[in-house]
Amino acid sequence: MSDLIRREVAGLPLYDTDSGANAIDLSDNTSLWGAPPAALRVLREMSSAAIARYPSSYSSELQGAIKRYVGLDTASVVVGCGSDDILDSTMRAFGSPGDRIACCSPTFVMIPVFAKLNALELSAVPFMPDGDIDAEELVARRSKITYLCSPNNPTGVAASRAAIEFVVDRAEGVVVLDCAYAEFSSERLDDLVSRSERLIIVRTFSKAFGMAGLRLGYGFGSPKIIDAVARARGPYKVTRVAELAAFTALSESQEWVREHAALAVENRERLTRLLRQLGLVVLSSDANFVFVPTEHARAIHAALRARGVWVRLLSGMPTDLPELAASRGVALRIGVGPWDVMETLITALREALECA
Ligand SMILES: *Cc1c(COP(=O)(O)O)cnc(C)c1O
Repeated sequence: MSDLIRREVAGLPLYDTDSGANAIDLSDNTSLWGAPPAALRVLREMSSAAIARYPSSYSSELQGAIKRYVGLDTASVVVGCGSDDILDSTMRAFGSPGDRIACCSPTFVMIPVFAKLNALELSAVPFMPDGDIDAEELVARRSKITYLCSPNNPTGVAASRAAIEFVVDRAEGVVVLDCAYAEFSSERLDDLVSRSERLIIVRTFSKAFGMAGLRLGYGFGSPKIIDAVARARGPYKVTRVAELAAFTALSESQEWVREHAALAVENRERLTRLLRQLGLVVLSSDANFVFVPTEHARAIHAALRARGVWVRLLSGMPTDLPELAASRGVALRIGVGPWDVMETLITALREALECA
């Protein structure tokens, strides 16, 4: 049997997340404030008839609401089963087996996974010592697809607009700009899609909208690029339940989402100050999490876990960033939530630091 499995598939581990029941889970950057109340209301009121029928094949009503949300009436939109689905479909639409995909490193963990599944060759470009993306090197890799993530996961750092524009203007192939954390960032990048018909911006309902469990993401850009991604995606990828909840959230809850994103930003800054006071190195984040390179990451992670607080441990990262050189490539990524949760984290962290 095993010799029948495609080589790219056989080599992939199953995705294993680090979280436990009854724990305070700060490991996956989802929203600890939950989903918008209006979305929960329509989910409760959902009729049996609605669930018995197939959803619309490409969620055209939701596409329209997303266009209004990002303020781009002329862009095209494709929605998918999480933005993961959009990233995977974009690779499938443009990458033939053996083609190159360039990205910075470290970046979103799913990129190497989808690259491998699509038999693409991953070309990792180090960050510049100042933390920005190396735009010239990304372009020099002459790749079929160039993936950028800003603010970047796991570092939380936003790339400079100038560097992103350089890549968008000069990259040979398709550019994917992943803005999963756009709502927490001071820089708006959505308008960049008018610069190039080869750019797709990818966003999600999993973070600021608090709806990761519904699996809904979207990409927007020129009609040509979006049409190709939609074809590669295939019909019926988004459930009627997700479509209705997202449409309602965009119609009724934008203010709620903005307020909670602002709270996350406020708590992120407060948490960053406190962690630095504890002597930890914290990169300046534009997202709803903070990145803490420390050579004691493993011990702190274990000690937090013993106290019921789950954060993400990252190891084996490239050491081009000076902070990661100093920590020997290990770090913690900690999600930001309501302040009472952050207080529990900090209490556990103080104890953890004493035994680390
Ligand atoms: C969380 C995250 C996503 C969202 O994935 P979904 O499939 O929409 O849940 C996409 N990109 C990055 C960089 C992320 O951190």
